[in-house]
Amino acid sequence: MYCLFCHQLIEHGLSWQTILPKLDPICPNCAQLLAPIHLPTCDYCGRDDHISCLDCKRWRPSQLLCYNRSVFRYNTFLKEVIARWKFRGDYQLYALFVHSFQARFNQYFSELPKHTWLVPIPLSEKRLAHRSFNQAEALASLLPRTTVPLLKRLEGEKQSKKTRKHRLAMRNPFLYQGSQEDVDFAQPIVLIDDIYTTGTTIHHAAQRLRAAGHQKVYSFTLAR
Ligand SMILES: [Zn+2]
Ligand SMILES: [Zn+2]
Repeated sequence: MYCLFCHQLIEHGLSWQTILPKLDPICPNCAQLLAPIHLPTCDYCGRDDHISCLDCKRWRPSQLLCYNRSVFRYNTFLKEVIARWKFRGDYQLYALFVHSFQARFNQYFSELPKHTWLVPIPLSEKRLAHRSFNQAEALASLLPRTTVPLLKRLEGEKQSKKTRKHRLAMRNPFLYQGSQEDVDFAQPIVLIDDIYTTGTTIHHAAQRLRAAGHQKVYSFTLAR
């Protein structure tokens, strides 16, 4: 097996492969550059370097979200991986973190019922056409829960090019598109995205879901 990131041959001992037959295709050198978020984290936003987290002073009182949890710190290495995956069309790179993503989901959301819904943060139609896949949908498809596209995203300016101040001032780019008949509002929802940065995107999405009547909204991202 070759490392999907650096293309080096991965040499695992035979016994290890027998115990863990589905290892992520990442070599030990690259794997050590990933920074898993360890417990304890901020109980609201899931970051692990600030137990009482300044970022959350803004969001916590809104009570839009039950909590966010993330798998890795958004460090230089993960930035590079996500950029290659998302913007340069190296689609198969997601395999690098499949098992970590699944294992953390099971750990953090084990108390939620099996019928919990996943709602991937959508891309606008234009950006989806440009990029050819939605990274949040790809992540959601790795998890053993039903994905329900309850949100639609309107065309907007590219968020990653804006400053934090601009992003916060931006209007909510999401629209709710669930139909009242087939929705159980007591059913917990987990929003899925690749990165939780300022929390703005996740909270905009959560705001639409809560306004539509959904009672419990969580979020789970690959990076924080
Ligand atoms: Zn490697
Ligand atoms: Zn926090």
